Amino acid sequence: MSVRNVLIVGGGFTGLTTAIALARRDVKVTLVEKAQAWARVGHGLTIQGNALRVFKEIGVIDEVLATGHPENAVTLFWADGRVMAKMPTPRTGGDDLPATVGMLRPDLHEILLRAAERHGVEIRLGLELADFETQGDTAVSVLSDGTRETWDAIVVADGIKSQNRPKLGITEDRAPSGLGIWRAVTSRTPEMIGGIAYPLDDSGAFKVGYTPVSEDQCYIFVLCSPVRPDNGLEGWQEVQRLMANYHGEFDHLRESLGPDTFLNFQEIEWIFVEGPWNKGRVVALGEAVHAVPPLIAQGAAQCVEDALLFAEYMTQDGDFDEQLAAFHARRIPRIKGVVDASLQLAEWELHPGTPDADPGRVMAQALMALVPAP
Ligand SMILES: Cc1cc2nc3c(=O)[nH]c(=O)nc-3n(C[C@H](O)[C@H](O)[C@H](O)COP(=O)(O)OP(=O)(O)OC[C@H]3O[C@@H](n4cnc5c(N)ncnc54)[C@H](O)[C@@H]3O)c2cc1C
Repeated sequence: MSVRNVLIVGGGFTGLTTAIALARRDVKVTLVEKAQAWARVGHGLTIQGNALRVFKEIGVIDEVLATGHPENAVTLFWADGRVMAKMPTPRTGGDDLPATVGMLRPDLHEILLRAAERHGVEIRLGLELADFETQGDTAVSVLSDGTRETWDAIVVADGIKSQNRPKLGITEDRAPSGLGIWRAVTSRTPEMIGGIAYPLDDSGAFKVGYTPVSEDQCYIFVLCSPVRPDNGLEGWQEVQRLMANYHGEFDHLRESLGPDTFLNFQEIEWIFVEGPWNKGRVVALGEAVHAVPPLIAQGAAQCVEDALLFAEYMTQDGDFDEQLAAFHARRIPRIKGVVDASLQLAEWELHPGTPDADPGRVMAQALMALVPAP
């Protein structure tokens, strides 16, 4: 076994999944998270089948399926409410798992956190990795409370805004995608199974969609310009404005928004580090090294695939550097397929009417490529 005690930096989906996968293989795991406390914030998430396959492997699939809302198809609409197509979603995790599960982010986080605790992961909140040293077969952490500790490996899972990434010698940085996104959790009616609506003109959003997360709730997303206009509108009013020309099921969603709706607006950025993700025994995983515009909802799925495969390689017999190189070589082509498809789709969102644009084909091909296990 290459590693027996590991420090994980960051308690998002990547850090927690890595922690569980390693702990289930008898690795002693400590996880530090800079937040002082876990907060129940965040919107919905579409968990694709290939992420569900990882959750099956780490023993949390029953809780995920019991908490989220499974779907195997999505309806495509025109903005005026006409149905364009009802499309089956590829079952990227195999036929024994749903194509997707819609879920509230804090619910998934809580499931992973409980599993990490059950497997004996030591979690320390309110701490950051201030510095590190690589020393032969070990890595030394210096945490923000000044403590120095020695590990077989340190996993940096601190997200797209990673402050540790440059310290690993990685020169790539996050870049704007040209898109912004509003997200909100709101109510739905039972017949609303999930949909994406495409604009008929350029007077509002690039695209609007929703995913059920429970019997009566869904989360909506509104893709738009990354710059919020200075029009004096409250967030929920701005989303209503962007959705004004979207009808059918979207009338219900638009009207359900109000001053109490929990909304979030952000610019969408991306990053893809194709070269090494490590400096000695300090290794970055997840969004610290690959994040994509969420146009095929694969961001977190790719993060948790990293986590499981990393744990598998690092707990096999063999040389650490060789195992890491083999892990990296296996991950890059798979992630690159998702990155290329997501950036192509973002480009077509920004330039509607591009000749030969075929988002349905690109989306389907990218997802079908993920059906074989990573
Ligand atoms: C608008 C949007 C919609 C998305 N929708 C989907 C979707 O539907 N499906 C999907 O699969 N993916 C989706 N994604 C992608 C998904 O959210 C991310 O891929 C995933 O959450 C990244 O997880 P992570 O753990 O790598 O990073 P993060 O979630 O960013 O977690 C990093 C953690 O590290 C902590 N941290 C940061 N710095 C330090 C430090 N120095 N020391 C200690 N801790 C630190 C942070 O507090 C945080 O808890 C979406 C992304 C966006 C932006």
